[in-house]
Amino acid sequence: RIAYVNGRYVRHADAGVHIDDRGYQFADGVYEVCGIRGGKLMDEELHLARLQRSLAELRIASPMPLSALRQVLREVVRRNRVENGLVYFQVTRGVAPRDHPFPAGPVKPSLVITAKRLNMARIQQSAEKGVAVVTMPDLRWARRDIKSIALLPNILAKQAAREAGAYEAWLVDAEGYVTEGSSTNAWIVDKFGRLVTRSTGPEILSGITRTVLLETAKREGIEIVERPFTPDEAKSAREAFISASSAVIIPVVRIDDTAIGNGAPGSITLRLREAYAKVGVLS
Ligand code: PLP
Repeated sequence: RIAYVNGRYVRHADAGVHIDDRGYQFADGVYEVCGIRGGKLMDEELHLARLQRSLAELRIASPMPLSALRQVLREVVRRNRVENGLVYFQVTRGVAPRDHPFPAGPVKPSLVITAKRLNMARIQQSAEKGVAVVTMPDLRWARRDIKSIALLPNILAKQAAREAGAYEAWLVDAEGYVTEGSSTNAWIVDKFGRLVTRSTGPEILSGITRTVLLETAKREGIEIVERPFTPDEAKSAREAFISASSAVIIPVVRIDDTAIGNGAPGSITLRLREAYAKVGVLS
């Protein structure tokens, strides 16, 4: 495997950053994960736009012009011969002696890019069977709209889910509403057959898959409501699912100890999963 690190393509096993990188010291950075299908990046422009926004919110400079970044992303995918998988790209504020304020002088942001293959058969299996989620308190900071590399609460939630035999954790805010999954957006189909997902804002990450799915649902004539829902409402919903760039849509068939619907992936969920493939933009 080959990684891109600050201007160089290096063997993945030898790739590293300086110990004074602010990403390493402070998690002072942002990232993106973009799906690859048939060797092409999925919804690339939406991912690049979100990266630019995350960087601007944290006042981290762009590591390179967008046109160059597009080329390097392609090159990393090509050199790793990824047909179906993911490309990960991360930008940190750069290397400077450890001190909390932004470095005084100009510092070059660090850019790291990796790509990996995904086991599509395994994803397909999860999509056909559905997965379990468990609910737990959302312990994250108040700017979840920024795709920050500081993921400790997400990691703890995912680990707790795995230890409970579940695939994902659905995080619940102080008011008792589901925000999103630890690395996915959360959706239900309510008792009226409407697609429900929380509206964007500082409380959740504005998922690229979420954005494209909303467009997909509109085209399919499925009614959409963007509003918060509680774990109780989700447990009595007709259908539930999660969305993310990695696997697009995975049906949820159990929340805590409650089976959803008849305990099998829902029909609207599966319809959206199929329709997404035609709407997701490959470039
Ligand atoms: N919410 C969180 C917290 C995430 O980490 C992710 C993706 O990693 C998502 C939602 C889904 O976002 P996207 O569809 O852009 O992958």
